[in-house]
Amino acid sequence: MSSIDLPVPDWAMRTAENLLSTHGEGPHVVATGISPSGNIHVGNLREVLVGEAVVKALEALGSEARFVFHADTIDPLRKIAPGVPESFWQYMGHSLSQVPDPDPNGCHTSYAEHFLAPFEEALEIMGVEVTVLRSHELYERGFYTEVTREALEHTDELRQILQEVAGRTRLIEDYWSPYIPRAASGELSNTRVLEHKPELHGVVFEDGYGKKGFADYSKGEGKLGWRVELAARWKALRVTFEPFGKDHTSRGGSTDTADRMAREVFHYPPPGRFEYEWIQIKGRGAMSSSRGIVLLPNDMLDIMPPDALRRMVLGRDPARALDLDLAEGFPRIMDEGTRRPRATSKSSAGTSPTPATGPRSGRRSRTASGCATRCPPKRRTWTPDSGGTSRW
Ligand SMILES: [Zn+2]
Repeated sequence: MSSIDLPVPDWAMRTAENLLSTHGEGPHVVATGISPSGNIHVGNLREVLVGEAVVKALEALGSEARFVFHADTIDPLRKIAPGVPESFWQYMGHSLSQVPDPDPNGCHTSYAEHFLAPFEEALEIMGVEVTVLRSHELYERGFYTEVTREALEHTDELRQILQEVAGRTRLIEDYWSPYIPRAASGELSNTRVLEHKPELHGVVFEDGYGKKGFADYSKGEGKLGWRVELAARWKALRVTFEPFGKDHTSRGGSTDTADRMAREVFHYPPPGRFEYEWIQIKGRGAMSSSRGIVLLPNDMLDIMPPDALRRMVLGRDPARALDLDLAEGFPRIMDEGTRRPRATSKSSAGTSPTPATGPRSGRRSRTASGCATRCPPKRRTWTPDSGGTSRW
């Protein structure tokens, strides 16, 4: 569902030209991703729209590009998002895909889906053509089996890199493992890998109580640690480009570590990169789910057309911070967003605006805690073995 012919911004063209010179003609794989541990907000949307713009730029330059959104649904619950009942502390350390919907009236299958589904719906409304991958499904279907085996076989080298790049201020434990098995309690923590059994694609581990267990990494019975997983998924998905926020690209941060792990252990070139700046709300600071400072894409789509939201979120240059002034910003942006379609639709009322260029009519009803009652939304499913020329 491509809604509109997007004008390709200059910064995206420059980024794509640079990518073609450093990573070849393609086909390219542009990846974005997020952990659905709380509301996925307009700041997160910036990353996806940066990826989309680079995909469009690559296509404009005659290259083939695939666009994926990697939802980190297997990630453990680390914080309780605002509005989530206190009782959810019991699920701390459990995969977001295995924690129940925090809305007692909700009909999402998990905590991850509760936050991911509305975002996916917004992407669909905006006509963003992206394949949404759920990491727990990738692990369960064995997509990461080979890179996990590779990581476990190079545990010492990965540990060394982690120590050199990220561990200046802390010592990485001797028993550190790139793979985190899921304990019988469901927690992805407090386990110690004792032995790798490559022939069984699994590890023998000990939990926090000294109880031994076995985790099969071809079946999603655990996951790679975050920094290793980043490098491993670049290789597994054959990613050639990924935008990152400044929280990841700081010195000694996750991209510094993953770059070395990719080169030295996985023998895969680190993807091209665009560092985007955060979106801040004037007077409140950077948008943050854990602090409850968010604007949700779905709410914005209730009051502005998708192309206005797209331009608002990207700004002139997403490498620069965007300060949204809630008092003044929206009316101006909406004005800009509606002016163009109106001017053209006068002369061609029959062809425009398309449904995707105007704000949605009517608001979806929601339960008090924000769970969309119109659910489950349509889901594009993905199977590793389904047709196609590549591993998608
Ligand atoms: Zn829900």
